[in-house]
Amino acid sequence: MFTEFIADFEDNMKKEKQHSDKCPAKKGQGACLCDGYHTFDELYWHRIALFIALCRKIHQKNERNVWRSKLHSDGSGKKGWFILGINKKRGEQITYHLPMKLWETTNFAETLAKAQKWDGHSSDDVLKRLKNI
Ligand SMILES: [Zn+2]
Repeated sequence: MFTEFIADFEDNMKKEKQHSDKCPAKKGQGACLCDGYHTFDELYWHRIALFIALCRKIHQKNERNVWRSKLHSDGSGKKGWFILGINKKRGEQITYHLPMKLWETTNFAETLAKAQKWDGHSSDDVLKRLKNI
């Protein structure tokens, strides 16, 4: 599934070539949600691919540290999304919501009926915690 996802992404990139070649903002044709080189979608998919790759490597070293769940700790869910996380302890968690179509791609992770209770980590907390990996 991940291979298909990457193949789809690469096909789209081939069609688009480099975004900077056709960015409407660069051509003075209107606003664009990009940094002049990469679209928001492109950066978002890179983040997902990099996080899955990181989780796979961590799992290879210590399988208890990587987990996933379709539900939050309170039993609620976000339709079409699941949570992939590194570390369960409060103060150490790193989590992202990923599209459900990538569930099979993360079969290496420990599957939990409900996610660990969120320790309140912010985006900045995740950046700090990533430095400690
Ligand atoms: Zn653009």
